[in-house]
Amino acid sequence: LVSRENHVSRSVVSVAGVPIGGDHMTLIAGPCAVETPEQTLAAALMAKAAGASLLRGGAYKPRTSPYAFQGLGETGLKILSDVRAETGLPIVTEVVDAADVELVASYADMLQIGTRNMQNFALLQAAGEAGRPVMLKRGMSSTIEEWLMAAEYIAQRGNLDIVLCERGIRTFEKATRNTLDISAVPVAQRLSHLPVIVDPSHSGGKRDLVLPLSRAAIAVGADGIIVDVHPEPETALCDGPQALVGADLDELARVVATLPAML
Ligand code: PEP
Repeated sequence: LVSRENHVSRSVVSVAGVPIGGDHMTLIAGPCAVETPEQTLAAALMAKAAGASLLRGGAYKPRTSPYAFQGLGETGLKILSDVRAETGLPIVTEVVDAADVELVASYADMLQIGTRNMQNFALLQAAGEAGRPVMLKRGMSSTIEEWLMAAEYIAQRGNLDIVLCERGIRTFEKATRNTLDISAVPVAQRLSHLPVIVDPSHSGGKRDLVLPLSRAAIAVGADGIIVDVHPEPETALCDGPQALVGADLDELARVVATLPAML
């Protein structure tokens, strides 16, 4: 179902009217985690000013340590919904448990399935039945074939509104949090009709890598990028070192607005 075979053209996924795929370079931006109404609104306004057309933000955070901030749950979803009403930006937010899919889908415009859950088949199937577009991040240790098969689980339940997101994979390299597999973009676009976007924030894990990795993603033909922004990265409860703010975000906005047309 997600294979390029039998599909003459690549798909465009509409998220509450915002297209991902086709001729568009879609910018998705927002805080890694929803922390407070003020922080989420400030991040959303930053994202919008930078040209983002969708707001990201996690209310359910799958953290490596059980002692790390786990997200605000439904309170976070309500904050996102209020911020959507104020800014007009549709919401992309992660769901980590099949039992929460209906609840998260009642607030979200797009469901995000994170790297740690790429092969959580019950979650994929539930997301396939939720009536919302799904962003499927690549498992950090998954092959492209496994990633596409995970997408197939969603599609099999009747939902073809799937966007693939390359977010870096595990390699022997320790200088970056993950190794952005830039070749996965054209490969997945060749094998599948689904749009493919890149997350330079979670792949590099460092603010100063977000811009070069974004340039690479745009140059290689990604259909969009998803980046973390935070009004005060030094106080962020999750992934502050990779969040953009100030001049770095302004520069990203400039690159996203101008680079695609130069290629
Ligand atoms: C995220 O985007 O908030 C996230 C946790 O990403 P990943 O699943 O790629 O680690």
